[in-house]
Amino acid sequence: MTTPRIEMDIGKISHNAKTLNELYGSKGISVIGVTKVICGDPTIATALVKSGMNILADSRIANIRRMREAGIQARFLLLRTPVPSQAESVVKYADISLNSELSVVKSLSKFALSNNITHKIILMVELGDLREGLMPSDLEDTVKGVMSLKGIELAGIGTNLACFGGIKPDEEKMRYLSSLAGDIEERFGLKLEFVSGGNSANYSWFMSTEDVGRINNLRLGESIYLGCETLYRKPIPGLYTDAFALIAEVIESKIKPSVPYGEVCQDAFGNVPEFQDRGQIRRAILGVGLQDVLVSGLTPRSDVDILGASSDHIILDAKQIDLKVGDEVVFNLNYGALLSVMTSPYVRKKYVNNP
Ligand SMILES: *Cc1c(COP(=O)(O)O)cnc(C)c1O
Repeated sequence: MTTPRIEMDIGKISHNAKTLNELYGSKGISVIGVTKVICGDPTIATALVKSGMNILADSRIANIRRMREAGIQARFLLLRTPVPSQAESVVKYADISLNSELSVVKSLSKFALSNNITHKIILMVELGDLREGLMPSDLEDTVKGVMSLKGIELAGIGTNLACFGGIKPDEEKMRYLSSLAGDIEERFGLKLEFVSGGNSANYSWFMSTEDVGRINNLRLGESIYLGCETLYRKPIPGLYTDAFALIAEVIESKIKPSVPYGEVCQDAFGNVPEFQDRGQIRRAILGVGLQDVLVSGLTPRSDVDILGASSDHIILDAKQIDLKVGDEVVFNLNYGALLSVMTSPYVRKKYVNNP
């Protein structure tokens, strides 16, 4: 089988999705399956739907379109605040979108009306991570503005933490979001369908809180795919952390020195490299490189060391393993590595354990 390839274990992904759905569901929190890291892959999207997730979310319209055109039976949510020039495709392909700019919601309203549909929005509130979101003091006025728009339904409020600023979604932040939801409902006499508290980083809050308050939804990506929470990247008990594997192949294997010889200048990426002297070692070169994967996010499953990489090569110290040309080497991937592999056209995508 050709390499490099990513093997995606559909059984393990499904198990993780079901387990998380039940766990969060036990305290009344629904889970939206986030598909951006897998680029809206229809086979995985189908597995999420079969595991009980009836809303799928992606940051890109192109991925939502891919899933819709594959016939995935779910509601679709656009995670990234709409790009203004794509407003028409947003109402066309997404049922719900996360928003933080009233001018953009106005534009969605215009296209919803001309297409004769109602588009739902969730207003994002800034709680300190400093990526997207309205300042809480602007929420009430924005809600007022949204409610005056035709073709738009305010479906909820939400927040996103631990993405840009690394800020923890703790008890205080979740209580505050709950209180904002309560205020809006009271002030405007409405019921919010979603109070969406965050992402895979909300696990430790969820496990420790005695009262989830008004939080009734989370949007999960990484914990489904990689089986970990995202504040400390600790495995979540009962989940698989090895649903994805990157497989590459040895294209050269020779005993060579561990330190380059000659006058040291810049490498392929403009850095001046430094190397540790390990004496003579078995250097195995793999037919995979930075054009395929974010190499710093790879962990070999066997006892070999990654010495470095260029666009098309990874260089290993094979240590005690007698790697031969044509042998396969298997890696675990972190989120960044998975994102790069799924996005690279050079990596073959293979499903395993697909019932
Ligand atoms: C990516 C994203 C998520 C999912 O985050 P994970 O850490 O993968 O669970 C949730 N919400 C928003 C707005 C996102 O952009």
